[in-house]
Amino acid sequence: MNQHKISEVLADVKSKFELANKQEAEVDAKWLLAELMGCSLTEIMLIQEKTLSEETYLSYMNHIQRRLAGEPLQHILGYQNFYGYDFKVNGNVLIPRFETEELVEKGISLIKENRMKQVIDMCSGSGCIGITLLKECAEIKAYCVDVSYEAISIAHENGLDLGVNNRLTFYKSDLFIEVPQMNVDMIISNPPYIPSDIIYSLSTEVKDQEPSLALDGGTDGLDFYRRIIVEGKPYLKKGGYLLFEIGHNQMEAVLSLMEESEYKNVKGYKDLSGNDRMIIGQK
Ligand code: GLN
Repeated sequence: MNQHKISEVLADVKSKFELANKQEAEVDAKWLLAELMGCSLTEIMLIQEKTLSEETYLSYMNHIQRRLAGEPLQHILGYQNFYGYDFKVNGNVLIPRFETEELVEKGISLIKENRMKQVIDMCSGSGCIGITLLKECAEIKAYCVDVSYEAISIAHENGLDLGVNNRLTFYKSDLFIEVPQMNVDMIISNPPYIPSDIIYSLSTEVKDQEPSLALDGGTDGLDFYRRIIVEGKPYLKKGGYLLFEIGHNQMEAVLSLMEESEYKNVKGYKDLSGNDRMIIGQK
Protein backbone atom coordinates (compact mmCIF):
# COMPACT_ATOMS: atom_id res chain seq x y z
CA MET A 1 0.00 0.00 0.00
CA ASN A 2 1.47 3.31 -1.02
CA GLN A 3 -1.05 5.46 0.74
CA HIS A 4 1.13 7.22 3.25
CA LYS A 5 4.37 7.83 1.45
CA ILE A 6 6.44 10.11 3.70
CA SER A 7 7.20 12.69 0.99
CA GLU A 8 3.49 12.99 0.23
CA VAL A 9 2.44 13.14 3.86
CA LEU A 10 4.98 15.91 4.49
CA ALA A 11 3.81 17.84 1.43
CA ASP A 12 0.23 17.56 2.61
CA VAL A 13 1.19 18.73 6.09
CA LYS A 14 3.18 21.61 4.61
CA SER A 15 0.10 22.86 2.78
CA LYS A 16 -1.98 22.54 5.96
CA PHE A 17 0.52 24.77 7.79
CA GLU A 18 0.53 27.25 4.91
CA LEU A 19 -3.23 27.36 4.87
CA ALA A 20 -3.26 28.02 8.59
CA ASN A 21 -0.60 30.71 8.05
CA LYS A 22 1.78 28.92 10.42
CA GLN A 23 4.78 28.43 8.16
CA GLU A 24 7.10 29.05 11.09
CA ALA A 25 5.81 25.88 12.74
CA GLU A 26 6.54 23.76 9.69
CA VAL A 27 9.88 22.51 10.97
CA ASP A 28 7.97 21.22 14.00
CA ALA A 29 6.08 18.93 11.62
CA LYS A 30 9.34 17.21 10.78
CA TRP A 31 10.32 17.00 14.44
CA LEU A 32 7.01 15.37 15.27
CA LEU A 33 7.49 12.76 12.58
CA ALA A 34 11.09 12.10 13.58
CA GLU A 35 9.94 11.58 17.15
CA LEU A 36 7.23 9.10 16.16
CA MET A 37 9.64 7.19 13.92
CA GLY A 38 12.41 7.26 16.53
CA CYS A 39 14.89 8.85 14.14
CA SER A 40 16.66 12.15 13.51
CA LEU A 41 15.55 15.05 11.30
CA THR A 42 18.22 14.14 8.75
CA GLU A 43 17.08 10.56 8.64
CA ILE A 44 13.54 11.72 7.90
CA MET A 45 14.86 13.48 4.82
CA LEU A 46 16.57 10.27 3.72
CA ILE A 47 13.54 8.00 3.99
CA GLN A 48 11.06 10.11 2.05
CA GLU A 49 10.22 7.23 -0.28
CA LYS A 50 9.12 4.97 2.57
CA THR A 51 5.53 4.72 3.75
CA LEU A 52 4.01 5.15 7.19
CA SER A 53 1.91 2.43 8.76
CA GLU A 54 -1.74 3.34 9.26
CA GLU A 55 -1.14 3.56 13.01
CA THR A 56 1.86 5.88 12.73
CA TYR A 57 0.02 7.97 10.15
CA LEU A 58 -2.98 8.42 12.42
CA SER A 59 -0.89 9.36 15.45
CA TYR A 60 1.11 11.74 13.29
CA MET A 61 -2.01 13.47 12.00
CA ASN A 62 -3.30 13.76 15.52
CA HIS A 63 -0.07 15.49 16.57
CA ILE A 64 -0.23 17.77 13.55
CA GLN A 65 -3.80 18.77 14.40
CA ARG A 66 -2.72 19.65 17.93
CA ARG A 67 0.20 21.70 16.62
CA LEU A 68 -2.09 23.48 14.14
CA ALA A 69 -4.45 24.26 17.00
CA GLY A 70 -1.61 26.12 18.71
CA GLU A 71 -0.32 23.57 21.20
CA PRO A 72 3.45 24.03 21.63
CA LEU A 73 5.67 21.36 20.09
CA GLN A 74 7.11 20.54 23.51
CA HIS A 75 3.69 19.73 24.97
CA ILE A 76 2.99 17.32 22.14
CA LEU A 77 6.41 15.70 22.37
CA GLY A 78 6.14 15.82 26.17
CA TYR A 79 9.67 17.08 26.71
CA GLN A 80 12.17 19.85 26.03
CA ASN A 81 15.89 19.35 25.83
CA PHE A 82 17.82 21.62 28.15
CA TYR A 83 21.61 21.56 28.47
CA GLY A 84 21.66 18.17 26.79
CA TYR A 85 19.06 16.60 29.11
CA ASP A 86 15.42 15.86 28.29
CA PHE A 87 12.96 17.42 30.74
CA LYS A 88 9.32 16.37 30.84
CA VAL A 89 7.02 19.35 30.47
CA ASN A 90 3.29 20.02 30.41
CA GLY A 91 0.95 22.99 30.79
CA ASN A 92 1.82 23.29 34.49
CA VAL A 93 5.42 24.38 33.98
CA LEU A 94 7.31 26.89 31.90
CA ILE A 95 8.99 25.24 28.91
CA PRO A 96 12.74 25.58 29.64
CA ARG A 97 14.26 28.33 27.51
CA PHE A 98 17.57 28.34 25.71
CA GLU A 99 18.68 31.59 27.44
CA THR A 100 18.36 29.91 30.82
CA GLU A 101 21.15 27.51 29.85
CA GLU A 102 23.48 30.50 30.09
CA LEU A 103 22.44 31.14 33.67
CA VAL A 104 23.06 27.48 34.47
CA GLU A 105 26.46 27.68 32.82
CA LYS A 106 27.42 30.56 35.11
CA GLY A 107 26.09 28.60 38.08
CA ILE A 108 28.21 25.56 37.19
CA SER A 109 31.41 27.63 36.92
CA LEU A 110 30.79 29.28 40.29
CA ILE A 111 30.00 25.94 41.94
CA LYS A 112 33.21 24.43 40.61
CA GLU A 113 35.45 27.43 41.33
CA ASN A 114 34.19 27.77 44.89
CA ARG A 115 33.68 24.06 45.64
CA MET A 116 30.10 24.75 46.62
CA LYS A 117 27.98 22.12 48.37
CA GLN A 118 24.39 23.35 48.53
CA VAL A 119 22.20 25.21 46.09
CA ILE A 120 18.60 26.42 46.12
CA ASP A 121 16.74 26.61 42.79
CA MET A 122 13.96 29.07 43.61
CA CYS A 123 10.82 28.90 41.40
CA SER A 124 12.06 25.63 39.95
CA GLY A 125 9.22 24.81 37.51
CA SER A 126 10.28 21.75 35.51
CA GLY A 127 13.41 21.57 37.67
CA CYS A 128 15.64 22.26 34.67
CA ILE A 129 18.03 24.55 36.57
CA GLY A 130 18.52 22.59 39.80
CA ILE A 131 18.57 19.19 38.12
CA THR A 132 21.09 20.27 35.48
CA LEU A 133 23.34 21.63 38.24
CA LEU A 134 23.11 18.25 39.98
CA LYS A 135 23.95 16.41 36.74
CA GLU A 136 26.96 18.61 36.09
CA CYS A 137 28.26 18.94 39.66
CA ALA A 138 28.49 15.59 41.40
CA GLU A 139 29.46 17.09 44.78
CA ILE A 140 26.41 19.24 45.42
CA LYS A 141 22.98 18.85 46.93
CA ALA A 142 20.10 20.93 45.64
CA TYR A 143 16.72 22.16 46.86
CA CYS A 144 14.02 22.84 44.29
CA VAL A 145 11.29 25.20 45.51
CA ASP A 146 8.05 25.99 43.70
CA VAL A 147 4.64 27.23 44.77
CA SER A 148 2.85 24.84 42.42
CA TYR A 149 2.30 21.28 43.53
CA GLU A 150 1.92 20.25 39.86
CA ALA A 151 5.27 21.80 39.01
CA ILE A 152 6.97 20.04 41.94
CA SER A 153 5.53 16.78 40.76
CA ILE A 154 6.95 17.20 37.22
CA ALA A 155 10.32 18.27 38.67
CA HIS A 156 10.24 15.16 40.86
CA GLU A 157 9.68 12.97 37.79
CA ASN A 158 12.50 14.74 35.98
CA GLY A 159 14.83 14.21 38.92
CA LEU A 160 13.93 10.51 38.92
CA ASP A 161 14.40 10.14 35.16
CA LEU A 162 17.77 11.86 35.34
CA GLY A 163 18.85 9.91 38.41
CA VAL A 164 19.55 12.77 40.83
CA ASN A 165 16.74 12.55 43.40
CA ASN A 166 19.10 11.14 46.05
CA ARG A 167 20.72 14.61 46.16
CA LEU A 168 17.58 16.65 45.63
CA THR A 169 14.93 17.89 48.09
CA PHE A 170 11.67 19.49 47.01
CA TYR A 171 9.70 22.16 48.84
CA LYS A 172 6.25 23.26 47.80
CA SER A 173 6.40 26.79 49.06
CA ASP A 174 5.57 30.39 48.28
CA LEU A 175 9.22 31.42 47.94
CA PHE A 176 10.99 30.85 51.28
CA ILE A 177 7.91 30.70 53.52
CA GLU A 178 7.89 26.89 53.91
CA VAL A 179 11.62 26.36 53.41
CA PRO A 180 13.38 25.42 56.67
CA GLN A 181 16.23 27.66 57.74
CA MET A 182 19.51 26.61 56.10
CA ASN A 183 22.71 28.23 54.84
CA VAL A 184 23.45 27.51 51.22
CA ASP A 185 26.28 28.54 48.92
CA MET A 186 24.02 29.67 46.11
CA ILE A 187 20.46 30.68 45.32
CA ILE A 188 19.72 30.55 41.61
CA SER A 189 16.41 31.63 40.13
CA ASN A 190 14.59 32.31 36.92
CA PRO A 191 11.43 33.70 38.53
CA PRO A 192 8.32 34.91 36.69
CA TYR A 193 9.26 38.35 35.43
CA ILE A 194 6.73 39.55 32.87
CA PRO A 195 4.79 42.66 34.00
CA SER A 196 1.12 41.65 34.46
CA ASP A 197 -0.25 44.16 31.99
CA ILE A 198 1.93 43.06 29.08
CA ILE A 199 1.12 39.36 29.32
CA TYR A 200 -1.68 40.02 26.83
CA SER A 201 0.95 41.04 24.24
CA LEU A 202 2.84 37.73 24.33
CA SER A 203 2.24 35.24 21.54
CA THR A 204 -0.93 33.18 22.00
CA GLU A 205 1.19 30.04 22.28
CA VAL A 206 2.90 31.45 25.33
CA LYS A 207 0.03 33.28 27.03
CA ASP A 208 -2.61 30.59 26.41
CA GLN A 209 -0.50 27.49 26.83
CA GLU A 210 2.06 28.25 29.51
CA PRO A 211 1.03 28.84 33.13
CA SER A 212 0.53 32.50 33.97
CA LEU A 213 1.88 31.63 37.42
CA ALA A 214 5.26 31.04 35.75
CA LEU A 215 5.17 34.26 33.74
CA ASP A 216 3.49 36.96 35.81
CA GLY A 217 5.94 39.03 37.83
CA GLY A 218 3.37 41.52 39.17
CA THR A 219 2.71 45.12 38.16
CA ASP A 220 6.28 46.00 37.14
CA GLY A 221 7.50 42.40 36.73
CA LEU A 222 9.82 42.75 39.71
CA ASP A 223 7.76 41.28 42.57
CA PHE A 224 9.77 38.06 42.79
CA TYR A 225 13.15 39.81 42.65
CA ARG A 226 12.11 42.12 45.47
CA ARG A 227 11.10 39.23 47.67
CA ILE A 228 13.90 36.79 46.80
CA ILE A 229 16.56 39.46 47.35
CA VAL A 230 15.26 40.19 50.85
CA GLU A 231 13.79 36.85 51.93
CA GLY A 232 16.65 34.81 50.46
CA LYS A 233 19.44 36.64 52.22
CA PRO A 234 19.13 34.76 55.54
CA TYR A 235 19.40 31.49 53.55
CA LEU A 236 22.77 32.41 52.05
CA LYS A 237 26.12 31.85 53.69
CA LYS A 238 28.24 34.96 54.02
CA GLY A 239 29.88 35.29 50.59
CA GLY A 240 27.18 33.06 49.07
CA TYR A 241 25.94 33.88 45.59
CA LEU A 242 22.55 35.02 44.30
CA LEU A 243 22.05 34.40 40.55
CA PHE A 244 19.06 35.70 38.64
CA GLU A 245 17.77 35.50 35.13
CA ILE A 246 16.09 38.82 34.32
CA GLY A 247 14.01 40.36 31.54
CA HIS A 248 15.96 42.33 28.92
CA ASN A 249 14.90 45.69 30.39
CA GLN A 250 15.17 44.89 34.08
CA MET A 251 18.91 45.17 34.61
CA GLU A 252 19.03 48.59 36.24
CA ALA A 253 16.07 47.97 38.50
CA VAL A 254 17.29 44.60 39.78
CA LEU A 255 20.88 45.86 40.19
CA SER A 256 19.65 48.67 42.43
CA LEU A 257 17.39 46.33 44.41
CA MET A 258 20.39 44.12 45.14
CA GLU A 259 22.58 47.05 46.03
CA GLU A 260 19.92 48.50 48.32
CA SER A 261 19.95 45.17 50.13
CA GLU A 262 23.74 45.38 50.39
CA TYR A 263 24.73 42.50 48.20
CA LYS A 264 28.36 42.82 47.11
CA ASN A 265 30.07 42.54 43.73
CA VAL A 266 26.73 42.86 41.97
CA LYS A 267 27.17 42.54 38.24
CA GLY A 268 24.94 42.16 35.19
CA TYR A 269 25.58 40.00 32.13
CA LYS A 270 24.17 39.83 28.62
CA ASP A 271 23.02 36.65 26.89
CA LEU A 272 24.41 35.39 23.58
CA SER A 273 21.86 37.48 21.70
CA GLY A 274 23.24 40.60 23.35
CA ASN A 275 20.28 41.20 25.70
CA ASP A 276 20.69 41.97 29.39
CA ARG A 277 19.83 38.62 30.94
CA MET A 278 21.59 37.78 34.22
CA ILE A 279 22.60 39.34 37.50
CA ILE A 280 24.99 37.87 40.03
CA GLY A 281 25.78 39.20 43.48
CA GLN A 282 27.21 38.01 46.80
CA LYS A 283 25.96 38.25 50.35
N1 GLN B 1 13.09 27.65 36.71
C1 GLN B 1 12.25 27.18 35.66
C2 GLN B 1 12.86 27.54 34.32
O1 GLN B 1 13.80 28.28 34.26
C3 GLN B 1 10.85 27.78 35.79
C4 GLN B 1 10.84 29.26 35.71
C5 GLN B 1 9.47 29.86 35.96
O2 GLN B 1 8.48 29.17 36.19
N2 GLN B 1 9.42 31.15 35.89
O3 GLN B 1 12.43 27.10 33.29
